[in-house]
Amino acid sequence: MNESEHKSLDFIRQRVSDDVANGKNDGRVHTRFPPEPNGYLHIGHAKSICLNFGLAEEFGGKCNLRFDDTNPEKEDTEFVDSIREDIRWLGFEWDAEFFASDYFEKLYLWAIELIKQGKAYVCDQTVEEVREYRGGWDKPGKNSPYRDRTVEENLDLFSRMKNGEFADGEKTLRAKIDMNSDNMNLRDPAMYRIRHATHHRTGDQWCIYPNYDWAHGQSDSIEGITHSVCTLEFEQHRPLYDWYIGQLEVHHPQQIEFAKLVISNTMMSKRKLTELVSGGFVEGWDDPRMPTISGFRRRGFTPESIRSFAKRVGITKHNSTTDIALLNLCIREHLNRVAPRVTGVLDPLKVVIENYPEDEFEMRVTGINPEDENAGTREVPFGRELYIERSDFMEDAPKKFFRLTVGGEVRLRNAFFLKCNEVVKDEKGEIVELRCTYDPETSGGKAPDGRKVKGTIHWISAKHAIDAEVRLYDVMFENENPADVPDGKDWKDLINPNALVVMQNAKVEPILADANAGDSFQFVRNGYFCVDSKDSQPEKLVFNRTVTLKDAWSKQQKKGGKGS
Ligand code: ATP
Ligand code: MG
Repeated sequence: MNESEHKSLDFIRQRVSDDVANGKNDGRVHTRFPPEPNGYLHIGHAKSICLNFGLAEEFGGKCNLRFDDTNPEKEDTEFVDSIREDIRWLGFEWDAEFFASDYFEKLYLWAIELIKQGKAYVCDQTVEEVREYRGGWDKPGKNSPYRDRTVEENLDLFSRMKNGEFADGEKTLRAKIDMNSDNMNLRDPAMYRIRHATHHRTGDQWCIYPNYDWAHGQSDSIEGITHSVCTLEFEQHRPLYDWYIGQLEVHHPQQIEFAKLVISNTMMSKRKLTELVSGGFVEGWDDPRMPTISGFRRRGFTPESIRSFAKRVGITKHNSTTDIALLNLCIREHLNRVAPRVTGVLDPLKVVIENYPEDEFEMRVTGINPEDENAGTREVPFGRELYIERSDFMEDAPKKFFRLTVGGEVRLRNAFFLKCNEVVKDEKGEIVELRCTYDPETSGGKAPDGRKVKGTIHWISAKHAIDAEVRLYDVMFENENPADVPDGKDWKDLINPNALVVMQNAKVEPILADANAGDSFQFVRNGYFCVDSKDSQPEKLVFNRTVTLKDAWSKQQKKGGKGS
């Protein structure tokens, strides 16, 4: 690699490339993605997945999937399955799969080794006492009264902890490091706690469980991981990571921290997402409003778009917020290239063309995707009765309204000029039909006499259209930074009530009757939509709006207006 190539890399890739060049770990690169199976993966995890699997791909290395399952109460095989599915959907495959629980025995034996070296002890302090004795940033800690137990006593108590002789919280095993360390994580951190709980894999075999810091680095070491990438909040844990490995004198992976992904108008912590699901605020983990990978998938996002997003966000050492507009841009760019163009009328208004013969139809030829020259064309029927979008008509239109008005003329996309002559209303005064005429001379979209129309609107033959439900999704939180909850409010009060708007009576082209779950389309002028993978039925199609054609949100938000 030459100097300019090296410079173009992010700081982690620079570091890995230096290690390879220097023959560290014999030039091996081995990473891992270590999710805790206590929820579904979110888009922040996608950033970590793209980084870990990407490093392995780029440096001819390996990447493991390791389930970090050391909290028996919160973990579940449903989550394990969903995590595997989501990683594969993103386009990655792991070299080996492990569970931290595979190492419970090994970790236990290593803990005994540390006890024998006089570097770990059984402590009887309560949570409150531990907190009090730990001190603070400006206050030195005090040694626990149990710190000087003999090795024999510690070995005896630790094996009795393991054998279930004590209740939850009664004792912990702690590393004996330094109660005056500037780094709070080194003030005799807990290695084991007692939890009489059934684990999703080890059942009731264990009632002591290793803490994150004790399990993580040792698992990395066992697997021969070379670069253990994690998010910035673990920077202060690195000395502890290194301390444990140093005491055991085993293979020493390098922990490297990077900034986690934070997206505007989005909340990503698993604890909060769990609350949204269990509180019924959303339909489930794969609700298209959720920032989960399965939510994005169901909403119509593609793996390509998420990988492209992760790449553009990049890897840095400084926390920042990424505008959700960037994510929308990535999916829009991909779907613009691949999604067939069709017509969907979300809020239909009937048009009757009085000078078009009854029961006659003609086929209009239209391109399937102007961005893809191989996409070809298809025919759509045109006839006397059409549906147009209700919002494309105004009875009392302002001057700048270039769509349809009474007495005004508009171009029907790929068809003719249409003039509205009369409005039909029901007894409530609501417009139910427009009586119109068309100009058969304008088939090419131009009038032979040179008269102009300013607007072009989409339409669909009423006779041929099929019914659909269309779900319009928008950002989950109205606030750019939903973590910043105003006084007296709960974070759930910030949920955008319009994050889902359902259009029950939409009309779509008959060609969509053959669409499969998950297929994506551009509904011209309306955005990108996909067939919902759960609720869509041949007799009642359901579409999800993946993204609008333009991003109204971030700009309008800044002006203080409402998103659309
Ligand atoms: P959360 O804070 O959302 O609950 P977590 O970090 O507890 O997430 P884990 O299952 O422990 O979830 O995460 C697995 C991996 O994904 C970790 O290496 C973690 O650093 C990484 N990760 C989690 N959230 C993000 C994020 N927002 N951006 C980048 N990486 C992330
Ligand atoms: Mg975690």
